[in-house]
Amino acid sequence: MVIDALRHIPSRGEILFRGDARLTPYNHDTMLTGDPDALVRPRDIQECREILAYCHAHRLPVTFCAGHTAMTGSSVAQSGLLLSIEHLTGIRDIGLHNGRPQATAAPGVFLGDFQRAVASEGFFYPPSPTSRNEAMLGATIATNATGDNTYKYGTTRRYVRAMRVIMADGTQRLLERPADQQISELKNTAGYFLLGTPIDHFIGSEGTLGLIVEVTVDLLPQPQPHFGLLIFCPSNDVALSIIGEAHRDAAVSPSALEYIDQAALQIMATHPTFPSPPAAAQAAVLCYQEYAEEMRDPFMEAWFALLERAAPEMHALLDATIVAEHPADEERLRTWRHHIPAHVNEIGHRLEGDDGGKVGSDWWVPIGQMPAMMAYMYHLSDAIHVPYLAFGHLGNGHPHVNYLARNAKERQMAIQAVDDCCRKAVALGGGVAGEHGLGKLKRDLLAIQHPTPVIDTMRALKQQYDPHWILGRGNILVPPE
Ligand SMILES: Cc1cc2nc3c(=O)[nH]c(=O)nc-3n(C[C@H](O)[C@H](O)[C@H](O)COP(=O)(O)OP(=O)(O)OC[C@H]3O[C@@H](n4cnc5c(N)ncnc54)[C@H](O)[C@@H]3O)c2cc1C
Repeated sequence: MVIDALRHIPSRGEILFRGDARLTPYNHDTMLTGDPDALVRPRDIQECREILAYCHAHRLPVTFCAGHTAMTGSSVAQSGLLLSIEHLTGIRDIGLHNGRPQATAAPGVFLGDFQRAVASEGFFYPPSPTSRNEAMLGATIATNATGDNTYKYGTTRRYVRAMRVIMADGTQRLLERPADQQISELKNTAGYFLLGTPIDHFIGSEGTLGLIVEVTVDLLPQPQPHFGLLIFCPSNDVALSIIGEAHRDAAVSPSALEYIDQAALQIMATHPTFPSPPAAAQAAVLCYQEYAEEMRDPFMEAWFALLERAAPEMHALLDATIVAEHPADEERLRTWRHHIPAHVNEIGHRLEGDDGGKVGSDWWVPIGQMPAMMAYMYHLSDAIHVPYLAFGHLGNGHPHVNYLARNAKERQMAIQAVDDCCRKAVALGGGVAGEHGLGKLKRDLLAIQHPTPVIDTMRALKQQYDPHWILGRGNILVPPE
């Protein structure tokens, strides 16, 4: 019956049905494989409206997908229609609006292309997930993506000024942020953001409330010149204490403060262009420092003074610090950093053959709780004897801990470890998801963070926007029977 209804979808492009090999690349994101009945790739807003109105009338589930890099199964459809935004491309406008630098674009532009386009006009769009060359702009808003520079520049939410959305019934709405609205800086992607205006409901809604078809974002002037430092450390503990110190030390002002533990450094070192790390290097810190022209040398000195102070045993490793000052060097640093999650995902997929695989965490804590949380996490993770690594946005209290389970038993233990860490993070004032959202695979974590009345409010919000629960079925909330 679903297939019969899908055959009459008002799409002007070719509809691909289950069994068509061309559907295969659309069937999975980073973590989950799905089985949609059909795929459409609309080319304009009107087509999107007609498709959604038809699905609403026929109660057909619709899942939106963009670059398929989600870590939670959120862009995967278990059945029904998959709607790819890949043809909704184009940057319409980059410039000053009421004295404010802004850009308006379609959602299917790759984030990296968007950033390069605004840079060529002299502007800067900060949100920078390491996946920026594979992730699409609209999806980064639907996930409230963050990146290393969130430490200085905040989350995607800070920049979204307006968006055009197609509601579940095919109607169109323009959502605009009031000029004077305070914007939450919380790195929290566990369910709907309930405190703001409707535009905030959509940011991080993981394709469950409506289809984003156009966005207007605030831009910044081009950042000051900056250098990157990849600092090799003799132990995880030293790397952690450098991050704490850099956070407190007023003499430095990093825009990014990233942790790479011993196991993560080993993965980073497998990138073909990575130089052999010194033998004593057992962990690393990656940071970026912006500076006004005359401040380059003082900042460099302040960083090295901080490193010498942080641990006497650092001394032998200081000369090995990799300093990136030119765009090509910085691109290499970013490539190596991206290699960690990308390569871990590959290893995880190989382990799935033995019923193991990657089990990843996305919890976060306020930075002041970082030492307590990391001590808890390492103690717990060492005890289960499942290989794991920790890396990421420690400056924001938000590392990713990736367990590489070799079989089903280890997988269960890793899932339990992530659960336990999420409970601890919430007890310390943090949350269960800092940037990946919940999707289908992590939605059970919602109840660790939020009491039932809050989840009921989220369900009511979903019901209000999408009365038949056709959008992004299974993401964030369990649909009603
Ligand atoms: C190696 C690797 C590194 C990563 N690093 C980071 C990182 O540093 N920071 C970070 O935040 N994330 C990171 N991610 C996760 C992922 O890249 C982000 O969540 C990204 O925003 C998803 O973009 P996408 O285009 O791949 O979207 P998809 O995976 O296709 O979709 C993601 C979600 O957005 C919804 N969606 C897509 N388009 C629309 C639309 N137009 N309207 C409404 N909903 C829509 C989908 O339904 C789905 O729920 C990483 C992933 C990988 C694989």
